[in-house]
Amino acid sequence: MNSCEICGSTSFRKTTAKERMFGMGGSFEYLECENCKGLFLLDIPLDMGEYYPSNYYSLVNFNTSKGLRKWSKRIRYLLFKLGISLSPPVYFEWLQTLQGNENSKIADIGCGNGQLLEELSYNGFKNLHGYDPFLLEDKYSERIQLKKMDYYDINEKYDIVMFHHAFEHISNPVRVFEKLVTILNPGGKALIRVPVTDGQVWKESREFWFQLDAPRHLFIPNTKSLQILATKFDLDLYSIKFDSFECQFWGTELYKRGKILNGLNITEEFSQQELNNFKRKSIEYNKMKIGDQACFYFKLK
Ligand SMILES: [Zn+2]
Repeated sequence: MNSCEICGSTSFRKTTAKERMFGMGGSFEYLECENCKGLFLLDIPLDMGEYYPSNYYSLVNFNTSKGLRKWSKRIRYLLFKLGISLSPPVYFEWLQTLQGNENSKIADIGCGNGQLLEELSYNGFKNLHGYDPFLLEDKYSERIQLKKMDYYDINEKYDIVMFHHAFEHISNPVRVFEKLVTILNPGGKALIRVPVTDGQVWKESREFWFQLDAPRHLFIPNTKSLQILATKFDLDLYSIKFDSFECQFWGTELYKRGKILNGLNITEEFSQQELNNFKRKSIEYNKMKIGDQACFYFKLK
């Protein structure tokens, strides 16, 4: 890589990392652009499938709600729209910022098992589409279509396109945006929730950063890189909200201790007080915009 595909800078800082979640090891080189702070995995493994074992978190633990529980979710959303908040789930806020409604045609890129779309369907959303190349097979229901498909093969247009921790799993961020503007309807909106190199934990701990997640994360942006991409593709980056969690601290600490995270019981590793402190610190970091992940909202101009 001679120059940054986002900003054109030719200065990079190198970090060498290992696969740590499953303890697969290896040696993966990342280059961080000195200007826009975008972080690129240099050589992408030919078979990424081996780094997504069947127990990869986004493909397991699918829950359905039935009967009263399903209806209470519907009522909770109707009340939320009237301004009455009964411990609303975080996705209400995402949909509100995206100005989505029950008739919006929504795509969830890298949808995993489709849990989020399932929840949205309980809340009255009807036109829901999920894409994930690591799905075992396509799955169709009245309101939801899940397709085992690569992002670049999508050939429909949407009012809302969401990437919930998926953007960083796709190589070539410029191409991702090139494609994005072709699958948005006029005035369409996109939400990218993604780890960011703005995070203090990345700056302090580099290769041990929990959300570096080598080699699954192919590109990790900085707020600056996403601002440049928005300008380049005539998108309005109209809202940024940091939403990092306490795992940035305990995950990074465990990687430093040489632990494999998959299957580990966190409560055996840290006291409740330590975990509470991590949680408090993540809230502070989000306010200071130095948390390790954020929500970026774009609108097609
Ligand atoms: Zn750059």
